[in-house]
Amino acid sequence: MSDDFDAIVIGAGIIGCATAYELAKSGRRTVCVDKNTVAGAGSTANSCAIIRTHYSTMDGAALAKSNYPYWEDWAGYLGALKDEVLARYRETGCFYTCFEKNNYGVKLEVIANAIGIPYEVMTPAKIRARLPIMNPGHFHPPKAADDPAFGTQNGEMRYCLYFPKAGYISDPMLATQNIQAAARRAGAIFVLGERVVSVDQKDGRTAGVTLESGRRLRAPVVVNVAGPHSYKINEMAGVTGGMNIHTRALRVEVAHVPSPAGFDFEKDGSICSDADIGGYWRPEVGNKILIGSEEPECDPLEWVDPDQWNRNVTEQARLQALRGAQRFPTMGVPNSVQGIADLYDASDDWIPIYDKSDLPGFYMAVGTSGNQFKNAPVVGMMMRALIDYCEGGADHDAEPFGFPLPNMDYVLNMRFCSRRREINRESSFSVVG
Ligand SMILES: Cc1cc2nc3c(=O)[nH]c(=O)nc-3n(C[C@H](O)[C@H](O)[C@H](O)COP(=O)(O)OP(=O)(O)OC[C@H]3O[C@@H](n4cnc5c(N)ncnc54)[C@H](O)[C@@H]3O)c2cc1C
Repeated sequence: MSDDFDAIVIGAGIIGCATAYELAKSGRRTVCVDKNTVAGAGSTANSCAIIRTHYSTMDGAALAKSNYPYWEDWAGYLGALKDEVLARYRETGCFYTCFEKNNYGVKLEVIANAIGIPYEVMTPAKIRARLPIMNPGHFHPPKAADDPAFGTQNGEMRYCLYFPKAGYISDPMLATQNIQAAARRAGAIFVLGERVVSVDQKDGRTAGVTLESGRRLRAPVVVNVAGPHSYKINEMAGVTGGMNIHTRALRVEVAHVPSPAGFDFEKDGSICSDADIGGYWRPEVGNKILIGSEEPECDPLEWVDPDQWNRNVTEQARLQALRGAQRFPTMGVPNSVQGIADLYDASDDWIPIYDKSDLPGFYMAVGTSGNQFKNAPVVGMMMRALIDYCEGGADHDAEPFGFPLPNMDYVLNMRFCSRRREINRESSFSVVG
């Protein structure tokens, strides 16, 4: 087999596979390489895979809305074969808790009204009707477990926003492998169990990559989709100096707690962006409630080396479960809380970088900051269009590419996700994006 290609994608997570899928569909000889032996085994494997449309920025929300129909018609997006085993999207709706500190969600309403995202304002009475075990109490600000004021309720929230177009994928690795299969059908090749150790250059542009085994893959286009390792790949390519926004690996934990007795949370539960308690939650298989963190100020952020970090859950997961118990007073919190620990590839402003680099032919889809699983289908299409634009001779830094988002009337100016942007102050600076 020849090791000459038109494009190399580094990383076979959900976004790497979606990018390889689109590049292969464009007729490029595409290879996707991953150090793991199966696709989707990086940070995607432990993703909570919540699909929602609310974001703190108009562009962020538009990108999410544009992706939604692909989750609703997953088989159609993939061009799936009859009898293929596919990940299943479960629509549950999503609450967003509103209180003084987040200005009662007004910005989200403005965005939703502008681009046609359906939502409803839910008073405590309506919240109880939708989810009877949910206490619509007001607890903000989130506190450390040893804070004597932990669990103190200050009345009730005035209301939540409720976005009916939201849900989750319970098997994010299967979803990734579904895209991998579609990419293979489109002609992409996967080289798995091989680590990229250098990004090669010739005549001032990208020439390919070298693998730990010594094997060389050659191509004029290389795309860094290495998740929490993205900064290491950017360092290999020598492109970090040309970036104003950087990425780092952030360790996070997610708690899995049994649903309160007598309530089927898996069937009747919902999702919530619950900054009021400093977390988010959704139904989890096995009738559990999954409780993540929204990085409240009282919790230190744990930046790590993505090649050396603690994969065990700690007291942090228990703390998140205790915060969840404020919302669900009948939920017991076991002494030893189960869950997962994994990494976000966090950017400085929690907004991704989908961009070229200062090295011709080297691109990046990085900094996904714990909130881009849902956007994988359209990000793949956008990366392909950006590569077409730049390889066609356009200067994306001087004249940023505008990508017409599918499924809606909106052109996304990719300056929004540029490596050279200033910090976006509209961001939530949390996993909400
Ligand atoms: C706990 C958690 C919860 C999340 N919840 C949500 C959510 O609810 N909704 C949402 O939209 N998003 C969520 N996210 C974010 C989302 O999962 C990620 O944005 C997305 O999965 C990133 O996909 P990726 O393909 O970029 O990266 P990854 O899946 O991390 O893939 C990168 C791949 O690159 C490979 N790689 C790295 N270095 C090398 C090398 N040198 N050589 C070869 N291969 C290499 C790795 O092995 C890995 O497989 C969550 C993330 C986490 C961790």
